[in-house]
Amino acid sequence: MSGYWMNEINTDGYRVQWKINNILHTETTDYQQLSIVDTVEWGKALVLDGALQVSEKDEFIYNEMITHIVMHSHPQPEKILIIGGGDGGALREVVKHKDVKAVDMVEIDGRVIENCKKYLPSIACAFDDPRLNLYLEDGIKFVANSKEKYDVVIIDSSDPVGPAVQLYSKGFYENVFKVLASDGMMVAQSESPIFYQDIFVSVFDSLSTIFAQTYVYLATVPTYVSGPWSFTIGSKKYSPLKIIDDRETINGLKYYNAGIHKGAFNLPQYVKELLG
Ligand code: SAM
Repeated sequence: MSGYWMNEINTDGYRVQWKINNILHTETTDYQQLSIVDTVEWGKALVLDGALQVSEKDEFIYNEMITHIVMHSHPQPEKILIIGGGDGGALREVVKHKDVKAVDMVEIDGRVIENCKKYLPSIACAFDDPRLNLYLEDGIKFVANSKEKYDVVIIDSSDPVGPAVQLYSKGFYENVFKVLASDGMMVAQSESPIFYQDIFVSVFDSLSTIFAQTYVYLATVPTYVSGPWSFTIGSKKYSPLKIIDDRETINGLKYYNAGIHKGAFNLPQYVKELLG
């Protein structure tokens, strides 16, 4: 049998295995263990601290869903902040919107960006966009100190381990609220509502106490731990249930469309009950 199996341990009682052709790169950065692997099933993939972050084969689902729902819910998303997102997938989707005038992106680990540009160029393909201002620093400190006002903030963080732990804290979200314009909205990836219920509920509870409106939507991303993946929106004014459809259509999307936008907010009963 050629190739070998990489383990991803999700909980004490659950793990998945990825069959790997090759490890293309591995290093310990200042922040995390970083690998780029060539998988048999999912194309090339970025792995941080043992958790698969993005694969060539299904990244479009996550990146379109974390980006286009909020971008199609805000009537004029001109100034955008992305926190994390070093693979460049959310950035690639944001810059497809012609209304966007400036994107500030704050990624703590420049090595993620460098390696994704080298090994995952179909994902990390928008770092040359002239609207981008890239900050290689901690997103937590950035929002604590920033005086800017953004229309949309996208929190594309890794799982709550290592440098990302505080990206799930109420104090961080309060500072995100502060850097949003008076009609701004934010979205955060909020983990699996079935495997990681504590963190999923705590993101929702934190945002509910800070924002006038809080919404959860789901998508299935096959390479994330089995089943649904959640995203949570905090909004000062606009409801994401109303799609702004007076925009020029973005051609070439592979997952997002108006039907998916509406349907993603329909939550299974167990998820509704978790959110009270
Ligand atoms: N889509 C992926 C997922 O859900 O697994 C995550 C995308 S991206 C690879 C996550 C990025 O967040 C990583 O590159 C990591 O370095 C970055 N990150 C973690 N903690 C951070 C922090 N405190 N400030 C800024 N970026 C951070």
